[in-house]
Amino acid sequence: KKITIAIDGFSSTGKSTLAKQLAKHLGYVYVDTGAMYRAVTFFAMQNGYIGVEFFDKDGLVNALPSIKLAFQFNPALGFGEMYLNGTNVEQEIRTIDVSNFVSRIAEVSEVRAKLVEQQQQMGQGKGIVMDGRDIGTVVFPDAELKIFMTASPHTRAQRRFEELQQKGQDVTFQEVLKNVVERDHIDTHRDDSPLVKAPDAIEIDNSELTREEQFAKVVALVEK
Ligand code: C5P
Repeated sequence: KKITIAIDGFSSTGKSTLAKQLAKHLGYVYVDTGAMYRAVTFFAMQNGYIGVEFFDKDGLVNALPSIKLAFQFNPALGFGEMYLNGTNVEQEIRTIDVSNFVSRIAEVSEVRAKLVEQQQQMGQGKGIVMDGRDIGTVVFPDAELKIFMTASPHTRAQRRFEELQQKGQDVTFQEVLKNVVERDHIDTHRDDSPLVKAPDAIEIDNSELTREEQFAKVVALVEK
């Protein structure tokens, strides 16, 4: 039987690494919902709806119907890449600028409603591993397996910092740490679908387990 696996948690806890590995192992579809919020953010930046000192929320909400998001499977990578109105935006959505604005975009109820609906249409019961903040609570409250990932802010910032450095982005550790802490705050305090652990989710603390141990733990849960 194919199940739905919801992986939620704070930013940079290794959710996507685990989710991808798991989807590959099970032959399931992997969906990165953060990429969808990031793509809407990139759209808002490109079209002048958000910037350092302004946010035209109504303008963005009115423009939402013109935003088309799709994952296109890349066989070389083994998962889908994010397309915004027909353009691959995988690179553009991973910058620190997008990270700095994304939580404000994710607070907008109309944005959440649009993305949640699209995520739900990707299907439950089809063999899916979806990672995000509200998958086990809002998108798929009936998911057969729910994982909630945590790690200390320092561990997470270090992780994200190394990733960004590998991509050649010019950021400091302090900048990344500040971004991680700010996003945690906004994500856990917003009115619409704040980040919380679903009561039936199993918590995995990434600061205590290696990647291999995490993977083994989750595979054992799937097989149960
Ligand atoms: O997972 P990632 O760090 O790429 O997510 C970027 C941001 O998108 C999060 O900090 C959060 O504000 C938002 N998000 C969300 N709900 C999701 C996935 C991401 O609000 N399901």
